[in-house]
Amino acid sequence: MRIRAAVLRHPSQPVEIEEVELDPPKAREVLVRVAAAGVCHSDVRHADGELGPGFWPAVMGHEGAGVVESVGADVTHVAPGDHVALCFVPACRTCRYCIAGKPNLCETVAAHGARGMLMDGTSRLRLPDGTTLQHGLRTACFAERTVVAAGGAVRIPAELPLWQAALLGCGVVTGMGAVRNVARVLPGQSVAVIGSGGVGLQVIAAARLAGAAPIVALDRVAEKLVLAQAQGATHTVDATEDKTPVTTIRKITGGGVDYAFEVIGRPETIRMAWEAIRPGGTAVVVGLVPDGVEATVPGNEFLSDKSLVGTYYGSGDPAAELPGLAALALSGDLDLSGVVTQVDDLDGVQAALDRLRRGEGARTVLIVDEALARYEGVGRSG
Ligand SMILES: [Zn+2]
Ligand SMILES: [Zn+2]
Repeated sequence: MRIRAAVLRHPSQPVEIEEVELDPPKAREVLVRVAAAGVCHSDVRHADGELGPGFWPAVMGHEGAGVVESVGADVTHVAPGDHVALCFVPACRTCRYCIAGKPNLCETVAAHGARGMLMDGTSRLRLPDGTTLQHGLRTACFAERTVVAAGGAVRIPAELPLWQAALLGCGVVTGMGAVRNVARVLPGQSVAVIGSGGVGLQVIAAARLAGAAPIVALDRVAEKLVLAQAQGATHTVDATEDKTPVTTIRKITGGGVDYAFEVIGRPETIRMAWEAIRPGGTAVVVGLVPDGVEATVPGNEFLSDKSLVGTYYGSGDPAAELPGLAALALSGDLDLSGVVTQVDDLDGVQAALDRLRRGEGARTVLIVDEALARYEGVGRSG
């Protein structure tokens, strides 16, 4: 079938909405009618070629939600009409990482999906001239419809509006997982969050739910620090005004935080996270660092029991966690609408990427199908 989709032909060219061909789902695949999709900073890395060479041409988008339209053979966990959040690591459940309880690191996904192919190593997407297109980060949800591996479609309660559910599959899983699965923050422990964008705000919300205090949010944009307070930050540091932000964080927390989360992906902010933690503390790098970029810390400080750790996609079982995170949103414990600073339609994707490049706003949600997304249009500023 022919669909409209956001195509990255090459990092040197802007992302454009084009008509592309989408083949029907094969065995263990699901066709999803996309309701809405979130634009994440990783999409900027993708569009700018910073994931490394070879991630194009592709249909972009890795955070979204929609309704199942049809399923291929051997799919039993979802049926047409089900509401689903998309999960960009459709774990195979049989490789050694999956069996060891680390499905976010699934080896089969790494082998077949690294270059945007589905789990059998092939694509369902092509340009009208026959050129094969990648399923961007195996999800390709900046599109009217997408075919994903069965494990990439996770059923969620239909009560949660899909324009909000669209955020679950990357930002929420990643931010919540960094706090719950990696740091395992305990009540009363101190947290600093460096970068209060779409994912950083989820880290702050997760720290609040964990009972952390204080929670210090840092950013260079005042608007995002206001959002950070709404998500649970007890203190904010504006790095455009405060020339010694690490000193400020250390002062607030009496000598350094228990956990610092870096949610930008730059060597200098990773270094800030390292300097913000107390002896025995842990700096967690959540941000996606561009391919080829190195980060350094003073080696002798490992003597003070400090740890620098990485995380990918929440470091837990993203698909298993999604329904619980949807429930947290339904109960009001997680305010998903509160991190959305812009709403637009599919044609707004390039403008959304440009805002992220400038560091403006938190999340843009692209409403692909207004009726399915159940977006009321309140506060629309696209
Ligand atoms: Zn993302
Ligand atoms: Zn696996």
